[in-house]
Amino acid sequence: MRICSHYLKVKHILVIAGSDSSGGAGIQADIKAITSLGGHALTALTAVTAQNSLGVTGIHGIPAGFITKQVKAVIEDVVPKAVKIGMLYSEAAVKEVVKLLKSHGLVNIVLDPVLRATTGKDLLEPKAINLFREELLPLVSVVTPNLLEAGTLAGMKVDCSNDMAKAAQAIQAMGPHVVITGGHLKSKCTDLLYDGKAFHRFHGSRIETQHTHGSGCVFSTALATFLAGDNGVVTATKKAHNFTRSAIMNGYACGRGPGPVKPG
Ligand code: PLP
Repeated sequence: MRICSHYLKVKHILVIAGSDSSGGAGIQADIKAITSLGGHALTALTAVTAQNSLGVTGIHGIPAGFITKQVKAVIEDVVPKAVKIGMLYSEAAVKEVVKLLKSHGLVNIVLDPVLRATTGKDLLEPKAINLFREELLPLVSVVTPNLLEAGTLAGMKVDCSNDMAKAAQAIQAMGPHVVITGGHLKSKCTDLLYDGKAFHRFHGSRIETQHTHGSGCVFSTALATFLAGDNGVVTATKKAHNFTRSAIMNGYACGRGPGPVKPG
């Protein structure tokens, strides 16, 4: 059988995440980011959200067993070079993903610990947070919380650069490398990587825009894609930081509220 050389070069990234009907965040953002970086997105949907730029009006969780069915269907056929996990929504879905990670030698696993939409709705059942900390975090390579998510995971308030460092250490003690994204910091927008040995800071001046919907999804997905490209975690984080800043600069209006970023 002739194997197409293009197939061998394309990086396959498995995305386990939710759908955003407004097309700005979630799996829609992930597919755009991966495609623009020359990769191929394999997808397993965890939830379907009804939302627009003003808010989330409904969430339909996919039955946990069917999340596994999607993942198994794709990984039995193609070996992904990285995995991005986004919105999981239910405790049952978290349990199912933990089982999958334990039983299939997946590598370069990036977890965006999606807890709540900027517009206010919970995107993870609050009762699933302990499971997240105790069972899921130890199995992933890198976790990418924003300030609010880092605070919840570490059990402390995080709103300045010192808090970020303390929270990063507390979360890293649960297992993974940690990148706390600093887009919500009041002054500079510094992303902080802690790999268990050293802190690495990626600075950027504030980009004045309200069109940042999907920025966390794009950052974590770009990070997974750069890891799939054989970059170490420091280089992959720097590249994902630059890629996301460019996506934010190119953000645009889509509806009456904050619009999406534009990856690629
Ligand atoms: N909807 C889905 C499906 C998401 O995965 C996410 C974030 O990951 C959001 C909404 C939240 O987007 P925002 O950054 O605007 O809060």
